[in-house]
Amino acid sequence: MLDDFTHEPRIAYFSMEIALRNEIPTYSGGLGVLAGDTLRSAADLELPLVAVTLVSRAGYFRQEIDPQGKQIEHPDMWDPSRWATRLKAGVAISIEGRDVWVSGWLYILQGHMNGRVPVILLDTDLPLNGNEDREITHHLYGGDLAYRLKQEIVLGVGGALILQALGFEIRQYHMNEGHSALLALELLRRYAYPPDDVRAGENPYDIPRVRELCNFTTHTPVEAGQDKFPYDLVHRTLGDIVNIPTIKSLAGEDNLNMTRLVLNLSEYVNGVAKSHAEISRKLYPGYRVHAITNGVHPYTWTHPAFAKLYDTHLPSWCHEPEILVRADRIPDAAIWEAHTQAKNDLIEKVKTLTGIELHPKIPIIGFARRMTEYKRPDLLFSDIQRLKTIAQERTFQIVLAGKAHPRDEGGKHLIELLHTHIRDLADSIRIAYLPNYDMDIALAMVSGVDIWLNTPLRPLEASGTSGMKAAFNGVPSLSVMDGWWVEGWIEGVTGWAIGDSAESANGDDATSLYNKLLQVALPLYYMDRPAWISMMKGAICKNASFFNSHRMMRRYATEAYIR
Ligand SMILES: *Cc1c(COP(=O)(O)O)cnc(C)c1O
Repeated sequence: MLDDFTHEPRIAYFSMEIALRNEIPTYSGGLGVLAGDTLRSAADLELPLVAVTLVSRAGYFRQEIDPQGKQIEHPDMWDPSRWATRLKAGVAISIEGRDVWVSGWLYILQGHMNGRVPVILLDTDLPLNGNEDREITHHLYGGDLAYRLKQEIVLGVGGALILQALGFEIRQYHMNEGHSALLALELLRRYAYPPDDVRAGENPYDIPRVRELCNFTTHTPVEAGQDKFPYDLVHRTLGDIVNIPTIKSLAGEDNLNMTRLVLNLSEYVNGVAKSHAEISRKLYPGYRVHAITNGVHPYTWTHPAFAKLYDTHLPSWCHEPEILVRADRIPDAAIWEAHTQAKNDLIEKVKTLTGIELHPKIPIIGFARRMTEYKRPDLLFSDIQRLKTIAQERTFQIVLAGKAHPRDEGGKHLIELLHTHIRDLADSIRIAYLPNYDMDIALAMVSGVDIWLNTPLRPLEASGTSGMKAAFNGVPSLSVMDGWWVEGWIEGVTGWAIGDSAESANGDDATSLYNKLLQVALPLYYMDRPAWISMMKGAICKNASFFNSHRMMRRYATEAYIR
């Protein structure tokens, strides 16, 4: 089966998390979903990629929420043998001076059309390894710093070695975020000059050759978000794969900064939206940072009712989503009918999962994403009295969802806080919080709500992608001017801005949000249905046609992979 894929040189795409499908819980949020959409588009466009990630047998976690709003985390075990085939090859890497065996699974990602992309799921849970080492690939983002470093060694070093062992010829490497940066160290080791050619004190590694092979996409707009490991830990765990003075010159003197390392060893570096690239240039002076704005996979993020509509009116949309610019030709009634179906599906799901019955004729505001402080899920609730007053004038309903990282106390506290608000508002606004946010719930929500809300603290949302998914379903965004929305926003055409410009302070965002809801969005919904539907079409025509992962991958292909 592997022979189908090893006969031609490929781009190796490395990511700590990849959302392959809803049944495979090897992702925690936007980064993993983006990686999945990247591969789905690569398959549809028949680009020669091979992806490498960890098998994460215990998944991220399954979220339960108790009546008080406390998040309870359960392992989310999955069985790789149900979906993938065991690889016959294995490689040994050195961790804490021991040989740790790395093998894995071949998952074949089937495109919506003919293409396929092989995905290697790295696995250390092998009888040859001791118990501790068998657990390295169990928990996505689990454990402490030492555990994380071991995972990143398996991903970067183990991943590079296993591609070689399986007979893949790699033309370029693409690192999705810094977790796989140790891959670049393995390449340095592989392309070291023969010892006899190196004079004492000279750098023994062919750095230009490694740089030529590497591409890096950064997703974090802040220094604090980067993986850093103290050198004593690195030395103890990784040994001397590359001499420490060389690593220090590339990755920082004090700590091994994974982002620095990969910046110094990648010829092509990009941010995930125009504004994020600008911020990254300030964060990393002296590096050339390109911008390729994220996108989402058309077929995956379109509700079947809208897919049917596009199939009828714009039949090539799955291959060339640009054609959605012509979605304004679709009759209003058909758009509304498709939306009504998606909304009914969401209402059904909300009832099944929470027992709450939402009303099909009342607008639904949706908010779902990783629960963490900078995303400000509580902004909508910052003035409960005001929110009640708005609801008395123009009634609306709210659907929320999201997981907090098990060690993000702030995020977990926010989930509890939201549940307090839900109880306090029980008599005035119907609000549901759906547990265990995943791809399936995401599609139901982005297609079934009427307004998609996004309230990050600027400039912390590098891109954000859920609003793009909403656009594929004709759902306008009400969003702070950050990430992709700086490019996607046309006031009154694709949605609305919260706060007036990217430069203004974050302080008044709540007031701006309430004003937009009460004075603009809700009146339009209730008073002028044709104008509302033309807004829905605006989201499809102007945003879905552009913010899709086909366009994104065509750009990676022409600007990063072929250069
Ligand atoms: C799309 C998606 C995300 C990312 O949403 P953002 O708005 O970019 O934060 C997170 N989790 C799931 C399950 C998703 O489908």
